[in-house]
Order: sequence, then C-alpha cells, then structure tokens
Amino acid sequence: MNAELYAGVDLGGTKITAAVADAEGKVICQHQTATHSHEGPAAVLDRIAELVASLAAEAGTSCSPSRLAALGMGCPGLVDVARGITRFFPNLPTQWRDVPAAEVLSGRLGCPVRLLNDVRTATLGELTYGRGRTARTMAFFALGTGVGGGVAVDGRLHLGPLGAAGELGHQTILPDGPICGCGNHGCLETLASGPAITAEGVRLLRTGLAPKLHELVDGDAGRITPKEMATAAAAGDGNVRDSILRAAEYLGIGVANVVVVLHPDLVVLGGGVAEMGDILLDRVRETVRRRVGMFPTDGVRIERSALGERAGLQGAIALAVHGLGLG
Ligand SMILES: [Zn+2]
Repeated sequence: MNAELYAGVDLGGTKITAAVADAEGKVICQHQTATHSHEGPAAVLDRIAELVASLAAEAGTSCSPSRLAALGMGCPGLVDVARGITRFFPNLPTQWRDVPAAEVLSGRLGCPVRLLNDVRTATLGELTYGRGRTARTMAFFALGTGVGGGVAVDGRLHLGPLGAAGELGHQTILPDGPICGCGNHGCLETLASGPAITAEGVRLLRTGLAPKLHELVDGDAGRITPKEMATAAAAGDGNVRDSILRAAEYLGIGVANVVVVLHPDLVVLGGGVAEMGDILLDRVRETVRRRVGMFPTDGVRIERSALGERAGLQGAIALAVHGLGLG
C-alpha cells in the first residue's frame, strides 16, 4: 500500500492542533502544541512545519513510505484564500498582516498548502465528515465566545471576495441592541454567544433568582456556563429557563433569516452554546417553523454539530483532500 497522506492544521491563538490523515479523512496520528504566538509568524510557521513533518514521518512508518499530498490550515482571522496569504488575525501579535504562510509551509513540506478562516474550515469539516455528508446546502453557526458561521451552497463553501461570507453572527437581530465587537448594534453575537447567555445567568444567581444554578456552581458565578444553565433549567430554575429561551428565540430568528435566504437542507449549531442541547434546539426549530411562512421548512434539518470541537481539524483535512468542497 502506498497511500497518500493529507495534513490538517487548526491554528489557534493558544494552541496548534495538527493531524495526518488518509484520503478518506481518517486521522492516522495527531498532536497538539502551544502556539507561542508572541514569538511572531515566522517562529509559529516554523513550529507548524516541524510538527507536520514529524507527524508525516510517524504516519509514513506506520503504514508505508509516503509523502504528504497536501496540507490545509484553518486560521483565526482573514486570509487571502486564492494566494495563501494571511491578512488579519485580530487576536495574534503583529496580526499576521500579509504573511505568505502557504508559500513558507509549502517550501518546508514540499506539498501544496491551502489556508482558510477557521470557522469556514469547521463548516467544511461538518459538510464533509459530519452532519452535512448528505447535505448540498448548509449553514453552520459556531456559538462560542463569539458567534461565527459559514455557508455551503451546492456542496461548496461560499466565501465571497474576502473569504468572509457567512459571518452569520453579525446579522442585526435587535436594531437598538448592545454594541458588538464589529461596531454594529444588536448583532446575533451580542444576544446568543456564550458570554451573552452566561451574563444573564450571573445576574440571576447574584439576585437570588436562580437557586438550582446557585447549588450547581456552589455559588461561584465564575463557574457558570451555558451547559450548567441548561442543567439548572431542567432542574426547575424557571428564570434560567426563560433566559435560555429568550436567547434561543434570537438565535432562531437568525437561523430563520438564513433559511429564507438559502433554503438549506441543513443548519448545524456548534460550539459550547450548542451543548445546551434540546432546550436550545427545540426552540430554534419552533422559531424557524413559526417565522418562515413563505415555504414549508419541514425539509430543513436543524441539528447539533456531529464533530464538536474536532470540526476545525477535520475541516482542515477536508481542505487538504478536497479543496473548498465536493461540488
Ligand atoms: Zn457584530
């Protein structure tokens, strides 16, 4: 057997996860290391190249002498997809402006290298190896500290000229809502992100309105997460339940807007907020049914991510194997 190997890298602000996989996307070996982003892009790219080379060597000796066929990398910001150049990573020192990352890594590893924004990469992962395997048109909501997103149309990611299409968390939901990191007011991110949801949990706990939540986190507001809130709601905290349903309604409005525009087969909810499970999903599904009146939405599946936090890494592997999609 002389199987071709593909590498995927999930570059984050604090850690780098890399894997080598076969052409079906099955991971052969995987490793994680600290990003040490303060050392700057050159040192970080050096570390990525070393990590991937050692994984390729490990995979090669365990199955057959192989070379890497391609590498895909999910990046925490804007990238020039066509040229493989990083444009703006807001949370990394120097912000990686105009770093020819694909060329540098390709020179070190001797294979083509493709870059993509991390949430679009996770969308590709879910489309190729997760819930989206049978879907043609799909929207992905990454509900974490922020709300990111991605869109695939007819089996391919839709990226737009800057690779930024599909920023589903920055659609306006409340015209006079809270200020958002992007400068707008009332974005979905300000209403349904992890911090937005837990902030209300903290308020309820501190005002004595959430006894079950208080019990669950031992009175420590710092331990409140969306998942703990869902547990408290299920245990009988009515106020916590109401606050979750309010956020879920906002999310449902965001999903309904996307459904009207795309009429997708599938909407996937990922990230820590999606770990709240049915209390969130049921309300989102109900909101979409209630608010989309122009066509039947029975055929639109709304599901939790199948890959969870692995979506980014699997997406980077999909990017290496298939480019921007199977369509
Ligand atoms: Zn915004």
